[in-house]
Amino acid sequence: MSKSFGSVAALESFDLELRAGSLMALLGPSGCGKTTALRIMAGFERPDAGEVWVAERRVAARRAWVAPEHRRIGMVFQDWALFPHLDVWHNVAFGLPKEHGERVREVLELVRLSGYDRRMPHELSGGQQQRVALARALAPSPQVILLDEPFSNLDASLRASVRAEVRAVLRAAKATAIFVTHDQEEALSIADELAVMCAGRILQVGAPHDVYRAPLSRQVAGLVGEANFLPGRVARERVSTPLGTMPARGVGDGAVQVMIRPETIHLEAGCIDDAVIVDTEFYGHDQVVRARLADGTAIDVRLLGPRPDLAIGSQVRVTLTEPPHFYPAPSGSSIRL
Ligand code: ATP
Repeated sequence: MSKSFGSVAALESFDLELRAGSLMALLGPSGCGKTTALRIMAGFERPDAGEVWVAERRVAARRAWVAPEHRRIGMVFQDWALFPHLDVWHNVAFGLPKEHGERVREVLELVRLSGYDRRMPHELSGGQQQRVALARALAPSPQVILLDEPFSNLDASLRASVRAEVRAVLRAAKATAIFVTHDQEEALSIADELAVMCAGRILQVGAPHDVYRAPLSRQVAGLVGEANFLPGRVARERVSTPLGTMPARGVGDGAVQVMIRPETIHLEAGCIDDAVIVDTEFYGHDQVVRARLADGTAIDVRLLGPRPDLAIGSQVRVTLTEPPHFYPAPSGSSIRL
């Protein structure tokens, strides 16, 4: 599908399929078209070309159009959009026929807000308001739930627990859902499937673990997780890099980018000085150490636990615990090794 706003191409050859019962994260940098994609799925925006299907029903095409309220799609907005003048019960019941009190009770139980039905939105915590918004989206039993940056309004201390709760509720409801985020940790931690997009296109779709371990391109590697990129030159299945030469099985001769995840680098202080420690950042559960290689290239290394032997200025030996990934070098770049 494609969609432009004047001269801005928001979506180009955008193609995405959501597996029934799965929770997909749509991850991409700001302005890449995530919200536009969600708005087209919901029916708030028309695609210039392409189709939208919900289950077996075509809801948007050149000559077909189903209005948002008839698509059987539930939506959770970034600001949750609760009605401030309605209590929890009436927020959830909004849009349901009157006789559906039983369904309201059911979804409030699902989101663990059974005793809160008479509370007003301002009498709830951020996490509870989020659950009301989810209950309201689930109440009409939609075929798909769309969540637009659903956790961005929560402070960091609440976010992790609310994320886990939302996932548990969606699983219990056997809901098919897609949520938009630019937070890679969020996308990796709660999604069953991860779709990575950039500049209006889907770059890769897969299980979070697979996308992280085997990014199809340099761009995906940089968008999902942290990555070091080193210049390399391959000759006869060996690559020369600022870290020395190493095997490059199945990679054709020529210039490449070598991608190394920070947690796959091992540092050992002592006799061999491949690099010197130039900075350390301590995060409590782990730390990131920056080392400068002999040619001046800096690499980031993520290490678990305290390493008093790696003080700034220490000389270290650098080894890899996993083989790196190789991508074509950007055109126009020159590498001399
Ligand atoms: P963010 O993460 O910052 O919310 P996004 O990935 O959701 O960004 P979109 O909001 O979909 O990105 O926007 C994609 C592109 O389309 C941007 O360049 C944006 O400026 C443009 N755009 C979106 N909506 C409109 C509109 N109604 N009119 C004009 N341009 C628009």
